[in-house]
Amino acid sequence: MSSRSVCLVLLLAIVALASALRADTRQSKPPATSAASHDRRADALKHDAITEIDALQTLTQQMVDSIFSFGELGFHEFETSKYLVRILKENGFRVEEGVAGIPTAWVATWGSGKPVIALGSDIDGIPQASQKPGVAYHDPLVAGAPGHGEGHNSGQAVNITAAIAIKKLMERDRITGTIKIWPGVAEELDGSKPYFVRAGMFKDVDVCLFSHVSSNLGTSWGSPSGTGSIDVIYNFQGESAHAAGAPWRGRSALDAVELMNIGWNFRREHLRLQQRSHYVINNGGDQPNVVPPTASVWYYFREIDYPRLKELWDVGTKMAEAAAMMTDTKMTSMVITGEAYPQHSNKAVAEAMYANIQRVGLPQWSDADQTLAKALQRELKVREVGLASQLAPLGQPVPEERNMGGGSDDIGSIMWTVPTVTLRYPANFEAGPGHSWANGVAMATPIAHKGSTAGAKAQALTMIDLLLDPKLVAAAWEYFKTEQAKSPNYPYRPLIRPDDKPATWLNKNIMDQYRPAMQKFYYDPTKYKTYLEQLGIKYPTVR
Ligand SMILES: [Zn+2]
Repeated sequence: MSSRSVCLVLLLAIVALASALRADTRQSKPPATSAASHDRRADALKHDAITEIDALQTLTQQMVDSIFSFGELGFHEFETSKYLVRILKENGFRVEEGVAGIPTAWVATWGSGKPVIALGSDIDGIPQASQKPGVAYHDPLVAGAPGHGEGHNSGQAVNITAAIAIKKLMERDRITGTIKIWPGVAEELDGSKPYFVRAGMFKDVDVCLFSHVSSNLGTSWGSPSGTGSIDVIYNFQGESAHAAGAPWRGRSALDAVELMNIGWNFRREHLRLQQRSHYVINNGGDQPNVVPPTASVWYYFREIDYPRLKELWDVGTKMAEAAAMMTDTKMTSMVITGEAYPQHSNKAVAEAMYANIQRVGLPQWSDADQTLAKALQRELKVREVGLASQLAPLGQPVPEERNMGGGSDDIGSIMWTVPTVTLRYPANFEAGPGHSWANGVAMATPIAHKGSTAGAKAQALTMIDLLLDPKLVAAAWEYFKTEQAKSPNYPYRPLIRPDDKPATWLNKNIMDQYRPAMQKFYYDPTKYKTYLEQLGIKYPTVR
């Protein structure tokens, strides 16, 4: 018998034993109080879903570790998508690939009829974030290469595990409904979700459950602290000339870029404290002895609501026009990747999800997990709090006057299209500054595996509520159309313009440069139980 068959037999035995035990407890004990509002059928189904997800832990771990090992940047998640599409097809999902004009985007669908529940999560990595998992100091697998420095390797494991478990229960109990799964391609570039909305991907969707890595298990409703974002490239066109022989005949596009940036950095002092703006010069010319005839600068403008975001963008464009005037160059701008509309989570669904979060609870962390967490916290000189030990309360809306800005996610575009909530699951711990090698340390270790399993349970239990309780779907839409509609962000007005297209060419050079070296470290689950085992890393490795 192969080791796989042994596993299967063992697994079936565990499932049988667990359901026998459940039958007993159900007779002798009423459902837990956190589930008191749900009927007994939902309670029994939730019990079964948890059992199913526990039985899928190996698959969850393999997905987390595999995607970590691919470490792909936005729009180039080819290995990741190929791998996930294969798993989804093997599990009976129909998959449409290359959706919304994005080669690495897809939608997987199973089931029929209402409700239609869409599960989404991001899949892209961070430039220069390569890191050996389980090592509590900076130690790249491939120096300079991208990696999962935000933890986007775990969200699809959460969603797909939940979907496989729920599909099985829906088949067993003949429950009507449709499950859709989609990937957040190029989230770090705000690059796909507004285009998904534009392509009509959410037309028939009743509720969207998004998942994102975190240091705790939680969710929230209303507007969170944070911003929306628009990503714009300003291109300048000048005249080339010999930089020493005839500089007076040149018009430097790079001068325009620099003057725009100087103008912006002076103006920054007189902008609202809530704004965030940052840029990189993505084309600064070719070599110093050629007056740069072309140059461009790539800005992210962020503000907390749609009207202010538009205003901030207008200020940026004014700076660019002025810089072009000063240098006798021509300026054109394009929305380079996309937009992140300001976020808003649905109250009815978040409350249902939070009850499920309380039922699931936090994973049991081992001494090794705590040692890794505290060692990295020590390394980064932040508080040595270890891993989350207590559930966060249900997140409440952040009043405008208390929102001091922060990050964005292009899930915002979907949140104004259908009722949506974000599930945060504890596949990481507090330590890293975000978008850094440090945020990748935990992401292919037992911390990420257990955190993703906990996330899958919370996601699955919420799917059960949506499948069995049409009143919940109705309440979600009621909130969406009345309460959410009071926001200055309503109605959804896409910031991407009709002729803007996903910038699928971005990151190609970086991936072409590093992929050959990274390929040597792709995880092979047929040979190694875990990625840590394949890499020969002692868990945890600390100074
Ligand atoms: Zn993210």
